[in-house]
Amino acid sequence: MTLRDFSTSLDALSINTATVRRQRGAEVPLTHIIDQCAALGIGAISPWRDQVAAVGLDQVAQQLRALGMGLSGYCRGGFYPATDRAGLQAALDDNRRAVDEAKTLDAPCLVLVVGSLPGALDGRAAHKDIARVRDEVRDGIAATLEYARGVGMPLAIEPLHPMQAADRACINTLEQALDVCDELDPGRSGALGVAVDVYHVWWDPKLAQQIARAGHERLLAYHVCDWLTPTRDLLSDRGMMGDGVIELKKIRGWMEAAGYSGHAEVEIFSQRDWWQRGGDETLATCIERHRSVV
Ligand code: ZN
Repeated sequence: MTLRDFSTSLDALSINTATVRRQRGAEVPLTHIIDQCAALGIGAISPWRDQVAAVGLDQVAQQLRALGMGLSGYCRGGFYPATDRAGLQAALDDNRRAVDEAKTLDAPCLVLVVGSLPGALDGRAAHKDIARVRDEVRDGIAATLEYARGVGMPLAIEPLHPMQAADRACINTLEQALDVCDELDPGRSGALGVAVDVYHVWWDPKLAQQIARAGHERLLAYHVCDWLTPTRDLLSDRGMMGDGVIELKKIRGWMEAAGYSGHAEVEIFSQRDWWQRGGDETLATCIERHRSVV
């Protein structure tokens, strides 16, 4: 098994637009980010819903078409748990809208960050019952899946690092995500799979085994960055590929051996470092590291 050669082509490079959403410390509109990427020969992005909404869905779709730029995913749906029936329904409604937006933008998948204890993100968890929120998440994904199948939009469950189990996602390993996939889509139809983000799963002793288990039907997205030592912030101190301890080529080798042939999407939240630099410098570095270490 030889890896695809990234050194001579940018075909497999995608930029998650959070990576350059702040440049020199200031928020930058998505339209500008798209133009920056296009100017550097980057052919794919993965935008966030709030960035799209700030510009307007149709305008973004039009700009992407005009530039011939594709998506590697759309960020994001999920956040299913709630304290009451109205809250659960509101989450389902919002996920339908996310599916529709992903379709308008011609995304290959909608990424799901599934959510966890209601209120925990704001420091006020409404309860502590993680088993309950796992059930709510499974039911929520099932409902979204039914709708998304009809629209033709695959859903990619993204397991998050266990340090985020309370507030952002109660699905924390690839094994757990694949168990949900097997329960809700036993036929491996391609409608439900996973987003493998190295930041969240690199440490997992079962990673190679679970990537092989996923197979190409379930491997819908691959996100790269690096794990810095020390990590100074649990959410927004991700490293540039090559600056940390993740064995990127080894993991990509497992992905490709399992049949993954999609993008390597660079997703770096970096409040103290990359978000303080100019966007062109950050993107140029992404390109260089994509060629050399991803
Ligand atoms: Zn990710």
